[in-house]
Amino acid sequence: MIPFELSEPDTFAEAVSLLDPEDPTIRPIAGGTALMLMMKSNVFSPSRLVSLRGVETRYSEVDLTPEGGIRAGALARLGTLERHAGIVGAFPVLADTLRILSNVRVRNVATVGGNLAHADPHMDLPPVLLALDASVTAISPSGQRMIPIGDLFAGYYETSLAPDELIGELSVPAQNGRVSAYIKCTTRSAHDWPALGVAVSLDIAEGTIVDARVVVSAAVEKPTRMQDAEIALKGASVSEAAFRAAGEAAAVAADVISDVRGSAPYKRQLIRVNVARALAKATSSGGMGS
Ligand SMILES: Cc1cc2nc3c(=O)[nH]c(=O)nc-3n(C[C@H](O)[C@H](O)[C@H](O)COP(=O)(O)OP(=O)(O)OC[C@H]3O[C@@H](n4cnc5c(N)ncnc54)[C@H](O)[C@@H]3O)c2cc1C
Repeated sequence: MIPFELSEPDTFAEAVSLLDPEDPTIRPIAGGTALMLMMKSNVFSPSRLVSLRGVETRYSEVDLTPEGGIRAGALARLGTLERHAGIVGAFPVLADTLRILSNVRVRNVATVGGNLAHADPHMDLPPVLLALDASVTAISPSGQRMIPIGDLFAGYYETSLAPDELIGELSVPAQNGRVSAYIKCTTRSAHDWPALGVAVSLDIAEGTIVDARVVVSAAVEKPTRMQDAEIALKGASVSEAAFRAAGEAAAVAADVISDVRGSAPYKRQLIRVNVARALAKATSSGGMGS
């Protein structure tokens, strides 16, 4: 590893001020689980790392809001989210997804902000957060802005964050009775990165789907809402036929990429089957609820 400078600010504002919009070799480090791998394999050689570990403790906290949503600081560990009693109760899809994300050692170190900023399309949390309509607050020297999760991911390992902008917190709105599910589809070994991730969230009234969010990840460049599938579901009765039609619509519309985990036609078939399965899982009594 090439030597680098390490800054350890005490405040989030100071951390932001230590970034340089003109110098992409200066990066924040949170849990370090992704960054250290990139550095060890020489994919990334920083001139300076700005450690976020010493900033105000409120950036590590996770709370349920009075409205029933989630507010999590960027430095909150994935394991803290996973074990938060309020999240387990009100957002079981999140807790269940985290339980299948890597292993407990990684989850106890990796952070919410680092997870989202890394923007690896194979990651499990981003599609679920997109289905739940989450957003992040980004903080830069010129102030802060809210970015819907769907706008945060700009492409393959690419976000819409400016070089001197940090994720400060994650917000997930109250789900108000919506039901959700996530399916991680691995094609090689069970702990491999997925060939496909599917996250869905449905608002159902008296057996009719009022609103649907269907998200595909891993098989595509970034977590993506499948609008044709959502349109197919809206107004339909909760039924296997509606779920199959949505799977078909998603399979046709998805911009699928081939890689070592499968060819594009194979992944398209995975989408066809697993979108329908995720919808069935969300609506079954054995599903993950919201
Ligand atoms: C062995 C292993 C297995 C894994 N398996 C899975 C898996 O099954 N599913 C899955 O989804 N993920 C998996 N991961 C990935 C893991 O989820 C990420 O490595 C982790 O979430 C990154 O968080 P971090 O805090 O360690 O980020 P870091 O490594 O500290 O940072 C990652 C990136 O985010 C930037 N960054 C950090 N914090 C901020 C911030 N607040 N604002 C802006 N930019 C920031 C950094 O500069 C860097 O570019 C695995 C990782 C490992 C090492």
